[in-house]
Amino acid sequence: MGTGGHFAGLGWMEAERRRSRWRWRAYRVFSVQQPLPELAAALDAFDPGILTGYPSALELLADEQAAGRLHLRPVIVELGGESMAPEARARVAAALGGALHDTYGASEFNPLAFDCDHGWLHVNSDWAILEPVDADFRPTPAGRPSHTVLLTNLANRVQPIIRYDLGDSVLAKPDPCPCSSPLPAIRVTGRRDDVLRLVAADGNTVSVLPLAIGSVVDETPGVHRSQLIQTGPASIRLRLELRAGEY
Ligand SMILES: [Zn+2]
Repeated sequence: MGTGGHFAGLGWMEAERRRSRWRWRAYRVFSVQQPLPELAAALDAFDPGILTGYPSALELLADEQAAGRLHLRPVIVELGGESMAPEARARVAAALGGALHDTYGASEFNPLAFDCDHGWLHVNSDWAILEPVDADFRPTPAGRPSHTVLLTNLANRVQPIIRYDLGDSVLAKPDPCPCSSPLPAIRVTGRRDDVLRLVAADGNTVSVLPLAIGSVVDETPGVHRSQLIQTGPASIRLRLELRAGEY
């Protein structure tokens, strides 16, 4: 194992890292926008002890590792930001090794919940309030998937975040968790990104993360919303709706 560190596409982590010299060496943030061979080489050189990332990104790395083009030895692999199908989870666990953990967080409060051995996410409810609600923002009963979830950040005294609509569907566990944690247990049933697989000119398959395109769109001024559609083996269509008055 190397000096330890993280892999993630999360902006807050990059900001955290720049706050101290120690973090600068211990953490590294790798962009999913760089070509896969370059990303693999950079990750191999860093040799992280803790690997954190979007499941779709980690799936891609698991494929690289299984194909012998990546050689990571993480002690802990943390999944966050999207849900993951059980088959994909098993593939990531087999290829990357290390203890696989689910986390749930948002830019507005990152360490929202961490998993237990019984497969539930326990909310850090001493620092944040999560309220599963229906489309009219009324409470969703435990045991049912919510329409969305509202976040109140109790730790951030600089920027109040009160009942912020995260847009995720969450199911609260109706009975106590067998792990005996007193913290509320949830499952996130929404938010999942699929990896685009496109055929290159040489006939090989190129994997593209929707996040890689989505983050460029997000950073483009004047874009109100976007839709990415795979129209064929080697073609995608990106539809952009601009804000009124912007071209
Ligand atoms: Zn539990």
